[in-house]
Amino acid sequence: MFYCLGIESTADDFSVGVASSEGEILSNVISAYVPSEGGIHPREAARHHVKVAGEVVAEAISKAGISSREISVVAFSQGPGLGPCLRTGATVARAIAHYLGVPLVGVNHCVAHIEIGRLICGVKDPVTLYVSGGNTIVTAYEGGRYRVFGETLDIAVGNCLDVFARRAGLRQEHGKPFGALIEELASRGGEYIPLPYTVKGMDMSFSGLLTAATNLLKSGKYDLADLCYSLQETAFSMLTEVTERALAHTEKGDVLLTGGVAANKRLQSMLRSMASEHGAEFHVVPKQYALDNGAMIAWTGVLAYKCGLTLPIERSYVRLRWRLDEAPVPWVETGIF
Ligand code: AMP
Ligand code: MG
Repeated sequence: MFYCLGIESTADDFSVGVASSEGEILSNVISAYVPSEGGIHPREAARHHVKVAGEVVAEAISKAGISSREISVVAFSQGPGLGPCLRTGATVARAIAHYLGVPLVGVNHCVAHIEIGRLICGVKDPVTLYVSGGNTIVTAYEGGRYRVFGETLDIAVGNCLDVFARRAGLRQEHGKPFGALIEELASRGGEYIPLPYTVKGMDMSFSGLLTAATNLLKSGKYDLADLCYSLQETAFSMLTEVTERALAHTEKGDVLLTGGVAANKRLQSMLRSMASEHGAEFHVVPKQYALDNGAMIAWTGVLAYKCGLTLPIERSYVRLRWRLDEAPVPWVETGIF
């Protein structure tokens, strides 16, 4: 039995978790950076991470109920993500690994989202829809990698919702995500206003949808609740269509929904009914493990470490555009997990 400390810092969240080699999550502490206005500025977010790193690490270790000397391996989110944010997490990870004299493991952030979902939901081989502020990916395991069946060609669906919310003048109170504010408004709307639905092959585009929704908003002719409703219906139908085709193609028995946008009840319900039409089971990752979190990095660190995938400090550079389908996941094939 060993413990892995995992550090997540790809974008606005700095988070640290501890996982055991047996798949127990011992702690998962998340500190979110909320910009006073506008979107995430990478350097501002990194400054937040630097400020909170010490206390988040200490809290994660103390909540896990272990001593730092019991940590056998340190994992960090190596990419993809925002440069200054990634570098901050990597620096913290290198310092701790060096200080404790333990190996370092670089984890692909997107792989970690899938692995924690498989662990927590107890699902072996799903088609995964990963939707967040920075990513929109439909993926499944095939031939040694998590293959990307469909993805966004421009902005992520979470980003589309966030930017629209800001343009509509919505305010984030108590750190409530913009996507959740859109969801609340949408539940009060009900008249569908046509918006561009863009699926090209298996890929999706959300920027035209955002522009069109923004233009309708600016025209002042429509109810904001109806616009939010229509934005959700359009974007989520696109996601469901692509996930459905990946499911039909791979003939897998499970659909897994993760990422920050997974919290959305309307998206969940569309995917649930689609999955049931295909005789597949639908799983949604609980919020604290669906958002960017350190526990997923710690758990994926465990899997990688079991396969000997450690990283010498001098080669532990961050990888801003490290694609999901370029990351080796040898533990899947070997049946370790
Ligand atoms: P992440 O990038 O995984 O940290 O997730 C953040 C994204 O999730 C942001 O774009 C949020 O607006 C979005 N989000 C959070 N809650 C909801 C919700 N209930 N509905 C839609 N999007 C949401
Ligand atoms: Mg985030």
